[in-house]
Amino acid sequence: MRKLVFAALFLTGSLHAETADVLITGGTIITMAGPNIENGSVAIAGGKIVAVGKSSEIDERFAAKTTINAKGTAVLPGFVNAHTHVPMTLLRGIADDRDLMEWLTNFIFPAEAKNVDRDFVRWGTRLAAAEMIRSGTTTFADMYYFESDIAREAKNAGLRAVAGETVLDFPAPDNKTWDEAIAYLRKFVAEWKGDPLITPALAPHAPFTVSREHLQQIRALATELGVPILIHVSETREELRQVAERSNGLTPPAYLESIGFLADDVVANHGVWLTPEDMQRFAARKVGVVHCPESNMMLASGVAPVIQMQRVGIDVGLGTDGPAGSNNNLDMIEEMASAARLQKVVRSDPKALTAREVLELGTIGGARALGLADRIGTLESGKQADVIVIDLQDAKSQPVYSAESAIVYAASGASVVTTIVNGKILMRDRKLLTVDEDAAVAKAKEYRAKVLQSLKK
Ligand SMILES: [Zn+2]
Repeated sequence: MRKLVFAALFLTGSLHAETADVLITGGTIITMAGPNIENGSVAIAGGKIVAVGKSSEIDERFAAKTTINAKGTAVLPGFVNAHTHVPMTLLRGIADDRDLMEWLTNFIFPAEAKNVDRDFVRWGTRLAAAEMIRSGTTTFADMYYFESDIAREAKNAGLRAVAGETVLDFPAPDNKTWDEAIAYLRKFVAEWKGDPLITPALAPHAPFTVSREHLQQIRALATELGVPILIHVSETREELRQVAERSNGLTPPAYLESIGFLADDVVANHGVWLTPEDMQRFAARKVGVVHCPESNMMLASGVAPVIQMQRVGIDVGLGTDGPAGSNNNLDMIEEMASAARLQKVVRSDPKALTAREVLELGTIGGARALGLADRIGTLESGKQADVIVIDLQDAKSQPVYSAESAIVYAASGASVVTTIVNGKILMRDRKLLTVDEDAAVAKAKEYRAKVLQSLKK
């Protein structure tokens, strides 16, 4: 036995048989794939998780280039914000507490028409990236215009994104005609498909803003190009009325099914007004749904039947929706807390959506809904290293009887201290390493003045 140990030392030159780029040691590891590990470690190499387990077993195996002492923290998979419109950070708070149609017609549409260009989405995304990294989001699914520029900013910041170029039947800030939009989509997908961080997606806005023919064209294009589709579905009663009008009384999911649109590559955002039959449809076609509780509350859209969706086997994720007048931040911890509390109140059941269950929605649930569960969403050997560290030592989180409860019901996005995506450290001890936050904030103030001026004209 002693001879064997000496032989091993001789061969490796040290006690550590393997090398890791990053070793996170001494925390409560919430793997989301099994029981939590107290005094655990996560080893990362080549952008992937290579080991998860007790520190006493992992630490001696690895010689790490960077060691993060995680004592007193929770270590978990990064949050998946499965539905948002990140450049709208620059319109944050422009017109809150208003009726949806008034908000859209008098503020958002004119503000977008007059201000949204490539620079706008770049700076808006940079501001959002700082906020997301700070609050532990490692993947976001976006729907906006000039999405190629958004993808570039996300990649520069080191974030993972499903980037959905939004198309609709009226002129958008980027593409003025449908033919232009289709040409953009082809070029966009060709540019980004296969990127390790960016998944390009097609994002027809909604079943009432894109015609039947155009939806079918998008469906065929997604199949041809092998990319997912992101779309708003059954968000408001008004949408149900408009879709019923154009489809002889069908619900949005029934209408989408009738035109051959639904498949396992479709991600339906909101799903507030899904009927039991709609849920069966989505489950049968393996359509993922993204629940956006704060947006649904803010715009008084309604309450999505999250529990029923899960019961029929739909993959449900969680999203903040856009930060302008429908949230207004990108904080996934706050979103999880809202999701849990909303289901409890609407179902008159304090057991509905536990802390553990909403953590699932915010991590592996979102990964499943977006079709990324084989790569992210849990801390398991072989998965991409998207890992966050949450400090639970401060006054608002102590004492910790349950890490899940402390995170969801007591902590906040500001409790996240370290954020890692694809093995790269984007924030360490609250210091952002890939985004110039001061520049983004300064630019946001400039845009505020510009946007207000544009609305006066
Ligand atoms: Zn949305």
